[in-house]
Amino acid sequence: MYLIMLGAQGTGKGTVAGILQKETGWPQISTGDIFRSNISEKTELGIKANEYISKGQLVPDEITVPMVENRLNEEDCKDGAILDGFPRTVEQAEKLEKMLAKKGKKVDLVINLTTPRDEIITRILNRRVCPKCKATYNLTMHPSKVPGVCDNCGTELVQREDDKDENAIKQRLAIYDEKTSPLIDYYNKKGVLITEEVSQKINRLGKDAAVDIINRIKGM
Ligand code: ADP
Ligand code: ZN
Repeated sequence: MYLIMLGAQGTGKGTVAGILQKETGWPQISTGDIFRSNISEKTELGIKANEYISKGQLVPDEITVPMVENRLNEEDCKDGAILDGFPRTVEQAEKLEKMLAKKGKKVDLVINLTTPRDEIITRILNRRVCPKCKATYNLTMHPSKVPGVCDNCGTELVQREDDKDENAIKQRLAIYDEKTSPLIDYYNKKGVLITEEVSQKINRLGKDAAVDIINRIKGM
């Protein structure tokens, strides 16, 4: 099955996608993680993408779309994948449909994660990531067992460059509102959208949403 994680920055898409990957065996494809790996390895793609990422802008489709298509054509994606961070625009959604159609596949389920905006900024500022295995933690809500060290692989946790500055975060949220949020309507009309709220206010974490989603998948 091909799943899409939709939702603004800081709603926990990566965390939920990671749980779903473990449960289903379908690989999590995070465009942000692929870009960051390329940036740290200083590949040609990474150098180009960083011109946009460092400014909080979207990377152009000429770079992003073939990167996703190549990844989806890999053997481990033949039965399904969990897309985390793609598509982010209606144009990308249309291009995704075409690339899946070539393989006789379609988007089966889109998960719209929602979190109140006031919680989102704090969550992003408190986010810490493992540069090696890409696990995500939160200093207050979901800390690592040993402070500053990844539970999975023992690597020292870091804060993403684009998570350090509140203005950069606000810029990314503005792009989400303008370019990505229309996808909620787009996929709702196709009848594949489910919405899951994740918020401290209602004491509902990403892992609670994941339980719901897994039940949903089992019933499909
Ligand atoms: P966030 O959702 O917190 O912005 P991501 O890790 O998903 O972080 O992405 C980091 C950056 O990578 C984005 O700000 C954007 O510049 C770029 N990026 C990721 N996915 C896409 C995409 N589908 N299209 C264009 N740019 C993307
Ligand atoms: Zn790790």
